[in-house]
Amino acid sequence: MSGRAADDEAASAREAASARKAATTRKSTTARKPEPARKATPARKATPARKAAPAGKATPAKKATPAASAKKATPAKKATPAKKATPAAPAKKAPAGGKTTTSSTKKATPIKKAPPPRKQLVAPGKATAAVHAAPAKTVAKPAGDESRTALVRRARRINRELAEVYPYAHPELDFENPFQLVVATVLSAQTTDLRVNQTTPALFAKYPTPEDLAAADPEEVEEILRPTGFFRAKTKSVIGLSKALTEDFGGEVPGRLEDLVKLPGVGRKTAFVVLGNAFGRPGITVDTHFQRLVRRWRWTAETDPDKIEAAVGALFPKSDWTDLSHHVIWHGRRICHARKPACGACPIAPLCPAYGEGETDPEKARKLLKYEKGGLPGQRLNPPQSYLDAGGRPAPPLGAG
Ligand code: SF4
Repeated sequence: MSGRAADDEAASAREAASARKAATTRKSTTARKPEPARKATPARKATPARKAAPAGKATPAKKATPAASAKKATPAKKATPAKKATPAAPAKKAPAGGKTTTSSTKKATPIKKAPPPRKQLVAPGKATAAVHAAPAKTVAKPAGDESRTALVRRARRINRELAEVYPYAHPELDFENPFQLVVATVLSAQTTDLRVNQTTPALFAKYPTPEDLAAADPEEVEEILRPTGFFRAKTKSVIGLSKALTEDFGGEVPGRLEDLVKLPGVGRKTAFVVLGNAFGRPGITVDTHFQRLVRRWRWTAETDPDKIEAAVGALFPKSDWTDLSHHVIWHGRRICHARKPACGACPIAPLCPAYGEGETDPEKARKLLKYEKGGLPGQRLNPPQSYLDAGGRPAPPLGAG
């Protein structure tokens, strides 16, 4: 019995032990499972949960990305032409071919906008800079299409522009009184004001009054006037007008047009020079420069000096006439030359129908400029202070250069 009892006890002990192990196993199992369960849950929920919501949308979204990039790739190629639209590129593509025609055309517009800076020069020293600013291309208006009002506006605008370019404009003959001015003007025919200015100091030093010149020995006067050309005829004129002043006007230069034109060698042009600059009476001086320029500007088609004077005079107030004459003549001497107008360096090119008649290349045109615009001395040995203040240089005396 004791053996069976012992066996029973051992068996029950084994059962109890196995039951404990089972219980322990169950506990351990349940205890271990929660850990991974917690990790698994958040992990799965985190990723899919966020993706899940947009999932349906996300899918196309992901596809959209590559698709978009693909679509962008295409426009990227279109972006290239966009860069071509930049102003600089056109020139290179222009020669290329067909499509460039359009682009070059579109680019032509900005090129025209480039010139505008043409606001200008005031002082001689700054003239060069002003010249640089001259527009490369201009508007050439056919005279026939221009109304009277438009012509008046354009003409007055040209005068205003020239007044800015030559604010110191003055008669370019040296003189100290009306007598010297009328004699110098007569001597200026067929020669430059510079040569007259280099000659008259000796003449007026020896014959300071009309009476002195009226009584002069013609041969002595001829020798003095020889550098001006046509010296015999000029000697006859100045002695003759001196006699007329002495005999008919009491040795004084008359201040009326009708009296001035009666003097030997004095026409309307000389008379207006004297009236405008010695008496302050408005007058238009129609010399060779004036005639050339007003025709180039299509202010008038007249060729007769008197008709030109009347036609141009009608475009401006009388008070502008004298300064207008200086502006036009100065421009003709410095920039708008008879044979080689410096169009590429001309500040009024946009207003000029004759633009292109001369040199249009700015660099080449600049080399054509004369006197203070070209860095050279002016024509007067004794110029007004305003000219000197602006940087102008007096001309040298005869024989000095
Ligand atoms: S230089 Fe040329 S652009 Fe200037 S006014 Fe003379 S013709 Fe006209």
